[in-house]
Order: sequence, then structure tokens, then C-alpha cells
Amino acid sequence: MAYKMLVDLDRCIGCWTCAMGCKVGNHLSDDEFRIEVETHGSGKGIDRPEGVYPNLHMWWQPIYMNTCTWCAERVADSEPQFCVMDCPTFALAWGDDADPDSGYSQALKRVQERGAKLSELENEGTREGVVYAKAR
Ligand code: SF4
Ligand code: SF4
Repeated sequence: MAYKMLVDLDRCIGCWTCAMGCKVGNHLSDDEFRIEVETHGSGKGIDRPEGVYPNLHMWWQPIYMNTCTWCAERVADSEPQFCVMDCPTFALAWGDDADPDSGYSQALKRVQERGAKLSELENEGTREGVVYAKAR
């Protein structure tokens, strides 16, 4: 059993609402983020696509820092994490990977039925237990 976050990259629109919800809800300082949203584009700045018009490509990846607590206090009160609750596209789902009824397991089932590929980051400074799903 492990608690995990499923990030459906095909649903993420790069709005940063998860990061802002975390910051406000957890009363973080201006320069502190427990989740950031990386733009995969030209590499020259936020929301710059790669490619040549009309074949432009860009996608976004929420990155959970190892300072993320999974909102332990809210979970203890049976409340959802701020990032999960605030995401407007339902791209985030958290829960026990051994419980078939958890948000994580239900979301995992949906993305697997869609044929999405799963991956995890192993970068230093990022949180364990974050699973990315991407079909396109
Ligand atoms: S995970 Fe949701 S809230 Fe965060 S950037 Fe993507 S769409 Fe926006
Ligand atoms: S789970 Fe909680 S602490 Fe972690 S990024 Fe989401 S809102 Fe922030």
C-alpha cells in the first residue's frame, strides 16, 4: 500500500491553479512552491511552443517538490488536497494504490483504458509517489 498522486498530463492546461491553491491554502511565502508547473515547449520561457507554425507543440507538467506533505492535516480531516480540489480539469487524483475505490486507483483505471503511458520522475528535490499519464 502506498499513497500516490496520478497526474493526467492530457488534461493539464498549464493554468497553475494547483500551485496557487497550494500556496494560498497552506499559507506559503511568496517564493515558496510545493508544486510548480513546467512548460514543455521551446525551452525559452513559460508558454513558448516548440516547432514551426502551423506545427506548434506545447504541454505542461506539474512537478511536486519534496516539500509537499500531501496536505496531511487536510487528509486527517478527510478533506482533499488543495491542488486536487482546485484543479479545474480534474487532472489530479490522489489515494491509496491498494484500494480499488481510491481516487488514485479510479483515475489510473481510466487512463489505462485510454492507453496512456505511465512514468515517474526521479529528480532530486521532487516528491516520490507521483505518477504521470500521457497518451499523446
Ligand atoms: S494540474 Fe490542473 S490546476 Fe495544475 S496546471 Fe494542470 S490543469 Fe492547472
Ligand atoms: S498535496 Fe498539498 S502540499 Fe502537496 S502540492 Fe498539493 S496542495 Fe500542496
